[in-house]
Amino acid sequence: MVQVQTFVFSPLAENTYVLYDDTREAVIIDPGCYTRQEQEDLSGFIKRHGLTPVKLLNTHAHIDHVLGNAWVKRQFGIDIYLHENELQVLKWSQVMAPAFGVPAYEEAGVDHFLIPGQTVAFGKASLEIRFVPGHAPGHVAFVNHADRFVIGGDVLFKGSIGRTDFPLCDFETLANSIRTQFYTLPDDFTVYPGHFDSTTIGREKKSNPFVKG
Ligand SMILES: [Zn+2]
Repeated sequence: MVQVQTFVFSPLAENTYVLYDDTREAVIIDPGCYTRQEQEDLSGFIKRHGLTPVKLLNTHAHIDHVLGNAWVKRQFGIDIYLHENELQVLKWSQVMAPAFGVPAYEEAGVDHFLIPGQTVAFGKASLEIRFVPGHAPGHVAFVNHADRFVIGGDVLFKGSIGRTDFPLCDFETLANSIRTQFYTLPDDFTVYPGHFDSTTIGREKKSNPFVKG
């Protein structure tokens, strides 16, 4: 059984996730830790639970989702995984960091590209990589079929959807990603988004005002 631990980090209130199972292997998804205190919160949790992080996964490369990449990579000695189409977004994040109020952001290099359709493994668990562009050109989501959840990034929120007013965003592309990659999952799957509270596929299909199921 995969455990999902949520942290809300940085002035941009981004959800960082630590996933682990009873082998104690873990993946860290979208580490947004920025302050020393946030770094200690994350490393303290990992230490207290006896976890061994094995991969750093990014859903996409907007600044709030990669803020802690360099620190996590150094601290735990793990590789960074990102979709290739996000390299241009990663560059943009570096340029925009001061404007977003996080001038101390340090860019970290990507070690592996995430390939949609493939899976990412840790412990006894596996995550299916789904391509969900629209909010960002190389945005991916991670689906765990055994424990029925998706780590969705900034695609589908509780009662909302990811912004499409940034460069390289497109509303129709995002709506298509939601309909074909999220709404096709069973209703009881939990969605752990990049911001705000978790929700379910069924709830959003029924009541999301931006993309109808
Ligand atoms: Zn984003």
